[in-house]
Amino acid sequence: MLKNYKYTIENKLCMGCGACFDENSTIELQKGYLIPSKFKDIDVCPGLGYSLPFATKEYCYKMELGVYDKIFSATSLDKTILEKASSGGIMTAIAEFLLKENFVDGIIVTKINVENGKILPMPYIARNKEDLLLAQGSKYMPVPLLSFIKTLSKSEETFALIGTPCQIAGLHLMQEKNPKYKQIIKYTIGNFCGGFRDLREIYTIFNRLKISAEDVENFSYRGGGQPGFLTIKTREGIYKIAYPKYNKMTGFSTIRRCRLCVDATAELADFSCGDAWLKKFLNKKECKSIIITRNKNASNILELMEKQKYITRDKMSIDDVIEAQKTNIYSKKIRQKARRKIFSILCKKLPDFKETSFSSKNTRLLTELKVLLSHSIFYCLQVLGLYTFIAKLIKRDNAEIIFEEKK
Ligand SMILES: Cc1cc2nc3c(=O)[nH]c(=O)nc-3n(C[C@H](O)[C@H](O)[C@H](O)COP(=O)(O)OP(=O)(O)OC[C@H]3O[C@@H](n4cnc5c(N)ncnc54)[C@H](O)[C@@H]3O)c2cc1C
Repeated sequence: MLKNYKYTIENKLCMGCGACFDENSTIELQKGYLIPSKFKDIDVCPGLGYSLPFATKEYCYKMELGVYDKIFSATSLDKTILEKASSGGIMTAIAEFLLKENFVDGIIVTKINVENGKILPMPYIARNKEDLLLAQGSKYMPVPLLSFIKTLSKSEETFALIGTPCQIAGLHLMQEKNPKYKQIIKYTIGNFCGGFRDLREIYTIFNRLKISAEDVENFSYRGGGQPGFLTIKTREGIYKIAYPKYNKMTGFSTIRRCRLCVDATAELADFSCGDAWLKKFLNKKECKSIIITRNKNASNILELMEKQKYITRDKMSIDDVIEAQKTNIYSKKIRQKARRKIFSILCKKLPDFKETSFSSKNTRLLTELKVLLSHSIFYCLQVLGLYTFIAKLIKRDNAEIIFEEKK
């Protein structure tokens, strides 16, 4: 089959990044994705796979993490940034620094927009700290960030972009095709990524809680510390469900393209940021981010940020990063070969990644088959309306729901 948008969508290789959108098209919600009425530029689709940088003379390389210059654990020194951060607020701190020090004119970020019963991601340009604070928190949903960038193609301003590994890969493909995007987007700040579910998950959670989407005033996946809570604010009060326990409240699992992703740490970004899930920090209730700089320019910026008291940072070992991200790295990098094999045996299409981007180890095919089977069963139960009952029965769904009534 010709590789066009239909190929990507029908083969579940789409992750909804928006790179293929025609900038003049309308967008609608279909099966949990935002899909445009008109497509163009399918040759910049990161869903089909992309090249990850390999070992160079100048920089270090580790299969699990990609090419890197320096690695730190870091925390923003700004209390207002930390208040709503996913972990150490480092992505927002870097963005604020780039703005304040005039490295760029704006930062491309994403917030969740709640309007008329629709809870949707909304990319926008942040021009100051207040704008950046509105974007804080991880959005575990497809975000058509790259369709937004197309609206900037004639801009004379410069920007930094905050996004997931696949969005940043899509941007690189767009920049290769049209160098104008290189002049416009000067820096990328990527998050580590273990994948996300489609937008049907949120609406199903509302149904479970008997909340009408029209009554929702505010929604966030994370917040209130590390790991924090999914929070739904309605007219009646606030619902809180511990992260990531809410994941098992529905039969939807991480989308297929995320399961076939080999980019755990945003290997193409200038700055790659994640959560420091390490006992030594968690025991002391320290919210720390991990930051990997991928080139000297990014490392120099981080050094300036420390000198100017935007952040505190400490060197971090590769082993600590891999330990902190072991679930994500094990899934995306170590088990990938076996997972790809199972999908191939089942005649499913795969994204193209060089074999050097993931481990050559042969892990158990049976494990992958079991996981795939369980995802399919839970999905079918969800569609049949039986998931909640079965998930409670087998004690899969044990998420505690906290409700604070409005006073
Ligand atoms: C889908 C997803 C999966 C993730 N998986 C992991 C993981 O496996 N391991 C790990 O350590 N960390 C993961 N993270 C990253 C982590 O949750 C934090 O974002 C990161 O550690 C930075 O924390 P912070 O406190 O600096 O972020 P904050 O100060 O909260 O800033 C986050 C920034 O990211 C932007 N953003 C959030 N979600 C999206 C999105 N979907 N698309 C585009 N931009 C977005 C926001 O606009 C904001 O500017 C994931 C994030 C996402 C979005």
